[in-house]
Amino acid sequence: MNTGTIYDVIIVGGSYAGLSAAMALGRSLRKVIIIDSGLPCNRQTPHSHNFITQDGKTPKEISELALDQVLNYDTVTSIKDLALRATEINGSFKIETASGSEYSGRKLIFATGIKDLMPAIKGFSDCWGITAIHCPYCHGYEFKHQRTGIMANGERGFHLASLVKNLTDELTIFTNGNNDFIDVQTLQLKSNNIQVNDKKIIELVHKKGTIQKVVFDEGSSQNLDALYASIPFEQHCPIPQQLGCELDDMGYLSVDPFQQTSLKGVFACGDSTTRLRSVANSVNSGNIAGAMANKELAEEEFLIPTL
Ligand SMILES: Cc1cc2nc3c(=O)[nH]c(=O)nc-3n(C[C@H](O)[C@H](O)[C@H](O)COP(=O)(O)OP(=O)(O)OC[C@H]3O[C@@H](n4cnc5c(N)ncnc54)[C@H](O)[C@@H]3O)c2cc1C
Repeated sequence: MNTGTIYDVIIVGGSYAGLSAAMALGRSLRKVIIIDSGLPCNRQTPHSHNFITQDGKTPKEISELALDQVLNYDTVTSIKDLALRATEINGSFKIETASGSEYSGRKLIFATGIKDLMPAIKGFSDCWGITAIHCPYCHGYEFKHQRTGIMANGERGFHLASLVKNLTDELTIFTNGNNDFIDVQTLQLKSNNIQVNDKKIIELVHKKGTIQKVVFDEGSSQNLDALYASIPFEQHCPIPQQLGCELDDMGYLSVDPFQQTSLKGVFACGDSTTRLRSVANSVNSGNIAGAMANKELAEEEFLIPTL
């Protein structure tokens, strides 16, 4: 189905970044459609922290309030659907969705986030966002002074260790099979009373996502309350790459400081563009993307006098 409407901006992804972009655009009287498939990365976490005014709310409470406020602007529409393809036609864009709909827009904003790739450890995905956590700022306070692990290695593990050490003295790094720390790092970890365990983890024993212990391949185990994990990811949505948007060498969409991708008329914001992963940061970059898409439209429409 093609509605025939030409939107000023199509936003793909309607979580924190996408809704923030939509608010800037709605307040600028832009005709916007948000297409969202409803799978934000933090959906399993019971409480979201470190976003001022919304500390401790569920992820859904925050996004529902945001959607409610965004839809107060009557030029903004939101639909639940999965964007499948995008085509550029003479500087405008067409999006086709899983339900068979087509939408045309002058600008595109991708706020599609990233997908965390779960390691092959029994129980890990059940604990993700509950006691298997990614960020000390989002969840560290809730596990202060508790038995804490960090499943990471090398520079990343070392960096996390220095942050988490401030929150608990009961800290072990699990390198999960191989140890990439250089000698000076090993010494520094030891001086800070941080254990390094090289055994391969095969299971997180848990009750409804609350970790009880990590189990190693040779049969031993260690009791634990929380496990920070640095795990790989992929772009949640492949469309920006299919359109020709460049990725950086870490796998994020390349954007300039104004959230412009490498493709004219296409902006991106939120987790898909940065390793600084938080609700606050996604709202910030979404706000910039919305404003910049509006700026481009405004400049294109601003009449040149005929002399
Ligand atoms: C487990 C966990 C817990 C976290 N806890 C916190 C916390 O406590 N505090 C904090 O500040 N941050 C937290 N974060 C980080 C925070 O959740 C992210 O930074 C934030 O959700 C990113 O927002 P986003 O809008 O970029 O992407 P997301 O929230 O991931 O949303 C992307 C949206 O795009 C949609 N989408 C993707 N592809 C398509 C497509 N093709 N068509 C239509 N829709 C599509 C998805 O369905 C989704 O709704 C947590 C992250 C994780 C993984």
